[in-house]
Amino acid sequence: MLDDLKHDFPIFNSYPELIYLDSAATAHRPRSVITAINQFSILENSNIHRGVYDLSNNATGKYEEVRLKVAKFVGSENANNIAFTKGTTESINIVAQSYLADRLEQGDNIVTTIMEHHANFIPWQMLAEKHSIELRIAPVDENGDLIIEQLNALIDDRTKLVAFNHISNTLGTVNDIEQLIELAHQKNAPVLIDAAQSILYYDLDVKKLKIEFMAFSGHKMFGPFGIGVLYVADQLMDEIKPYNYGGGIIQSVTVNGTSFSNFPFNMEAGTPNVSGVLGLGSAIDYIEKIGKRMIKEHIGTLTKYCVEQMKQLSEVKMLGSPKNRSGIISFVVDEIHPHDIASFLNKDQIAVRAGMHCTQPLLHHFGESATARASFSIYNSKSDVDALIKSLKELIKFWA
Ligand code: PMP
Repeated sequence: MLDDLKHDFPIFNSYPELIYLDSAATAHRPRSVITAINQFSILENSNIHRGVYDLSNNATGKYEEVRLKVAKFVGSENANNIAFTKGTTESINIVAQSYLADRLEQGDNIVTTIMEHHANFIPWQMLAEKHSIELRIAPVDENGDLIIEQLNALIDDRTKLVAFNHISNTLGTVNDIEQLIELAHQKNAPVLIDAAQSILYYDLDVKKLKIEFMAFSGHKMFGPFGIGVLYVADQLMDEIKPYNYGGGIIQSVTVNGTSFSNFPFNMEAGTPNVSGVLGLGSAIDYIEKIGKRMIKEHIGTLTKYCVEQMKQLSEVKMLGSPKNRSGIISFVVDEIHPHDIASFLNKDQIAVRAGMHCTQPLLHHFGESATARASFSIYNSKSDVDALIKSLKELIKFWA
């Protein structure tokens, strides 16, 4: 178990009693990340890629260093595989609009799964509607595991993309991405991985896994809001056309037309989120200092403990029981509305999520309209789980 890392996170100095169990929504930021962001504003603030003076050159250098750092973090040596975006949602929408939209023809299909976050579902649904093609949706079993044979049967030689999450933000299911990528590639379909929930503590080596597209957000991996990543494999980089037009993405502009830079520079029109990128770089340093393996072990231990404790409470029903679960547990308590559960826990300063977690099709599949959700990170400890269970017991007594 990782001890004492809570001290790295200033939010807990401000709120010492806070039991934060909502890291799947957003993680807190360690001091080093906050310092990196502030330091940029205080000492280094300047626009990038535009100035020839020292301050601007320095900012450009640091921004581009992070691009290479991100590439290496996901197993690539090529910084140009990495575009900075606002987050997972924007990264996925770019693949939908800048890559896929122009290559869809009647009879094609896109394959996704019922367990996706809306960010990895609606973009495909909109494309399917607009281009009159089929959106094929792989189901999950009652444990919340993908039914692999059924997913496999959906992929064929007209599949233009297979898009799935590594970890479900509602069920906590960890998908066997190696196997899923293999199934897609057998039919020559490219793959998009939504790594929003896994990038923090799962090894994602894009080269070994032969991933075509991958999306994730800074704020779920101790970085700032408003910064995310789109990874695009070498062989598809030339296929991504600009989706947003403006400064910073051009080779030349005349009154007769414009020619654009190559990926990733054709994605970053306008002034980018420079301090966000530097904060993301600092978050990667922090993760690497602790090590993904340690983070995974810590979160895994807490989750296992919490699942065991919840199983003792007959009134608590967990949504799914996946073979391989990450640090996320969705649950309901008797007939109590999840918002009431979350409000009750809030009085004990326990922060959990309540609602549909942007996975409405999945919740409908399980016959629920909302759940409460607890999710863990490195600043949590067993005592946080104990506090959650104690408060749930009081809730059950109070409601009886
Ligand atoms: N996919 C998954 C699996 C997520 O958990 C989230 C965030 N809840 C997203 C996509 C969207 O991420 P963002 O809001 O940072 O764009």
